[in-house]
Amino acid sequence: MSSANNTADVINGTSQASSKVPRQTVDEQFLRDIFEIMVKDALKDGSDPHSKVIEWKHPHELEKILDLHIPENSTSKPALLDICRQVVQYSVKTGHPHFFNQLWAGVDSYGLAGAWLTDALNSSQYTYEVAPVFTLMEKTVLSKMLSLIGFPDGDAIFCPGGSVSNMYGINLARFNSFPEVKTKGMQGLPNLCVLTSDKGHYSMKKGAAMLGLGIDNIIPVETDEIGRMKPEQLESTILDVKAQGRVPIMVNATAGTTVLGAYDPLNAIADICQKHGIWMHVDAAWGGGVLLSKKYRHLIAGIERVDSVTWNPHKMMGSPLQAAAFLTRHKTLLAECHSAHAKYLFQQDKFYDVTYDTGDKSIQCGRKIDVLKVWMMWKAKGDEQYEKDINNIFHCAEYLTNRLRNTEGFRLVLDKPQCTNVGFWYIPPSMRGQTEDKAWWDKLSKVAPTIKQRMTEQGTMLIGYQPEGNRVNFFRMIVSNLDVTTAEMDFVVYEIDRLGNDL
Ligand SMILES: *Cc1c(COP(=O)(O)O)cnc(C)c1O
Repeated sequence: MSSANNTADVINGTSQASSKVPRQTVDEQFLRDIFEIMVKDALKDGSDPHSKVIEWKHPHELEKILDLHIPENSTSKPALLDICRQVVQYSVKTGHPHFFNQLWAGVDSYGLAGAWLTDALNSSQYTYEVAPVFTLMEKTVLSKMLSLIGFPDGDAIFCPGGSVSNMYGINLARFNSFPEVKTKGMQGLPNLCVLTSDKGHYSMKKGAAMLGLGIDNIIPVETDEIGRMKPEQLESTILDVKAQGRVPIMVNATAGTTVLGAYDPLNAIADICQKHGIWMHVDAAWGGGVLLSKKYRHLIAGIERVDSVTWNPHKMMGSPLQAAAFLTRHKTLLAECHSAHAKYLFQQDKFYDVTYDTGDKSIQCGRKIDVLKVWMMWKAKGDEQYEKDINNIFHCAEYLTNRLRNTEGFRLVLDKPQCTNVGFWYIPPSMRGQTEDKAWWDKLSKVAPTIKQRMTEQGTMLIGYQPEGNRVNFFRMIVSNLDVTTAEMDFVVYEIDRLGNDL
């Protein structure tokens, strides 16, 4: 008997050693029932513009509605399915066309298919051994992202979120300046610091705390009136901290700030980093998507000069959560900085090319497979459709900006937003045409929270608000659902006025 037949016998369960009892562990009917709930309730009904974005309940109410406790005895399938319907009913429909609350929105069918297929195969990204296809797929997608940035010979990895990617940036920058930190720790090193704009993401602080730099060593750099880092302020801050005997190991520039959507001037910042020999990181978690558009990639000009980049496909590129990449121009640093050479996982005497085992570049052990969601979407759309989609969200944001500028009762925070963040105040009729003194602004600061409460309770729309610098609470409208149209922009203007004109 040939060995090929032998193998087939083993797989078919006809060899002597295997059991004759068929295994039945896949509950196909249950999965079909869940699939129906997902497609009909969560996706189709959940994205109907006439349905609710959220059916709001306070925590103490929701606790009473949901039967969440883990019982001693098993739960019947009909009961499980009922709870699953409730899970959908009381969850936020982030694929709803009126969900504008975060820097991500929308549920792409192909991205979702990738997520489902990923979870059906339930593996970990660390070795080629257990993730052969995903290893090659990650290599392909990350190479594509590296080439769009302009790091043809770089290295990259998917991370559990942009905050962690930013921590990778700090860790690599520190390792690049002080490689001994990996083995010896911070003892004996000078006082290290990181510079970032005062509008930069708070994950820089978390990273500094995690990595033992300390939050006080995240040095804010002043921004201009539209939220961009001022290069001359960066240079004077570098000189100041150096005069204090501190060592700046990294400058973090932001490409698309969280609230105002500002793009820091990368070329001017790169000039300064080059002059002072400082690692430059770009936090493009949100705004990196413009790399896919010839029309808008000028916003991120200079990114090819920097050392490392954070870019979340789960934000502007609309891939399902979570998909976040850390990318660097330095080919070997990720491995050098993070490797621990665990012998049980990364055996060097495996029979295949072990350079395909990418897991030791990570700070994790097991790593969720994030790439299939991104790959599936990108493969389905192609570069051309992606470019159209990115151009579309910018077009809708510009359309909304114009409408707000020309509609009574609305006031823009920035006359010309750079990204698809559109900040605005709503001024109810009772407050129009009055002297805008401190009392007036105090009163205005309460308008956005009240309208937010009403939209949440009525479930008609979700938009975020916040104060920012010396600006009182304003709405931060985010256009990131790639399927958006100008009809949704009109709805925002209509709905805010409907919810707030009696205030
Ligand atoms: C969203 C965001 C982050 C954090 O990304 P997560 O994936 O939420 O951790 C970091 N920086 C900027 C500018 C962001 O917009």
